[in-house]
Amino acid sequence: KFEYAPAPESRAVVDIKSSYGLFIGGEFVDPADGTSFKSINPSNEEVLADIAEARQADIDAAVKAARDAHTRTWAKLSGRDRGKYLFRIARIIQERARELAVLESLDNGKPIRESRDVDIPLVAAHFFYYAGWADKLDYAGFGPDPKPYGVAGQIIPWNFPMLMLAWKIAPALATGNTVVLKPAETTPLTALLFAEICQQADLPPGVVNIVTGAGDTGRLLVEHPGVDKVAFTGSTEVGKAIARSVAGTEKKATLELGGKAANIIFDDAPIDQAIEGIVNGIFFNQGHVCCAGSRLLVQESIYDDVLTSLKRRLGTLRVGDPLDKNTDVGAINSAEQLTRIRELSEVGEAEGAERWSPECELPERGFWFPPTVFTGVSQAHRIAREEIFGPVLSVLTFRTPAEAVEKANNTPYGLSAGVWTDKGSRILWMSQQLRAGVVWANTFNRFDPTSPFGGYKESGYGREGGRHGLQAYLKVDEAA
Ligand code: NAD
Repeated sequence: KFEYAPAPESRAVVDIKSSYGLFIGGEFVDPADGTSFKSINPSNEEVLADIAEARQADIDAAVKAARDAHTRTWAKLSGRDRGKYLFRIARIIQERARELAVLESLDNGKPIRESRDVDIPLVAAHFFYYAGWADKLDYAGFGPDPKPYGVAGQIIPWNFPMLMLAWKIAPALATGNTVVLKPAETTPLTALLFAEICQQADLPPGVVNIVTGAGDTGRLLVEHPGVDKVAFTGSTEVGKAIARSVAGTEKKATLELGGKAANIIFDDAPIDQAIEGIVNGIFFNQGHVCCAGSRLLVQESIYDDVLTSLKRRLGTLRVGDPLDKNTDVGAINSAEQLTRIRELSEVGEAEGAERWSPECELPERGFWFPPTVFTGVSQAHRIAREEIFGPVLSVLTFRTPAEAVEKANNTPYGLSAGVWTDKGSRILWMSQQLRAGVVWANTFNRFDPTSPFGGYKESGYGREGGRHGLQAYLKVDEAA
């Protein structure tokens, strides 16, 4: 049991309106048919706001606004002028960082320490980074004067709402595209605050449009003939549907999908550091992380030591109020996601794995799941193969580096992996063998705007971040 230290004043820094319209052509407008849905606080089930649901007529209006803005203003601006707007947006994000962080924690359920120290600083860093590219595209290695596609339709998930928005919008705008972005239905609020930030930055109307709604709204955006480029982050299932939908059209697509990463710990690893990396790998953001280290592969000779240290460390994790600055693990984002985590955990037990959680008291209201570890997991178990997207770790063992590689790669996904060892040569060998877009060595879940991020296999295609992130929004020779 822990004494919580809620920071009640932090709720007061945000001014949440009772209802929100759609952000089209630089203004908040009512949806054509007036329908709406509710966004709720997953830590206590309080209704935060009523959110407009965009249908066909609204998507038509948003795409038209983006097209007009592209042809009339944005495509005519110099890279330096586009960069000025992006720098301005980045600075406003820094000025309003506290507000954004609190709003993100309220809407998503993530600990304020993460939204304040990780998500929002990275959001600002992304805008600064791509602002710097806007007038240097000739030097990005894609040939002289590379051209934008035009209108980008962007769809993002609920696990890092503001950060995924930054990964999508910053490179699109820097390269001269305009956007229509749809945030996830359970976490629309920071995207709507971002719309206000665009107004505050005097961004020309229509350059950024935010349409809210559920999967059907996303489908209408993807299928809209006025969209030139689709950028999607979300589940592999929906990603495949989007790939089918754009196939045979002129639309380009980039897909950032699911993962089932292995965090591999060798017997020569710095154990204390590795335990922190394992905990961060799967319990950061309640495990709602596409690149989460959800499979722990431990070398057999250190299995007992690792498990003992890991369990001791998990006993110190504080689960609770996302606005409490001492909280380590916040709320599960939705009732639906909680059900999925519960169901897969029950499957884990039914298939014979051993389930363990530290003693921890969960709040009565809201959606909660304790940090959970499964041992005795075999590769055939569903909890070793399927993405749980929650605070659940499946532990497997290996004897040799070759066996570690074989097990780590035994998944349809290929987004990330972690290697913990003292040997530099082993890190290099492992990173060549692992079929994953990112391989972290003696660290995990580290992000930086300068580094490309993206998947192999069913984790998607295209890269976000770094110079590669520009390529997704430019008509370039693929061989460049
Ligand atoms: P999801 O695929 O259900 O939803 C993602 C977004 O797509 C939401 O905005 C949703 O409304 C929209 N959507 C749903 N159906 C659609 C359709 N038919 N057409 C167009 N849009 C549609 O995923 P989720 O449950 O919100 O997010 C979790 C998933 O996202 C996980 O699988 C996770 O691994 C993945 N993810 C990947 C990355 C990455 O960078 N690779 C990052 C974060 C999350």
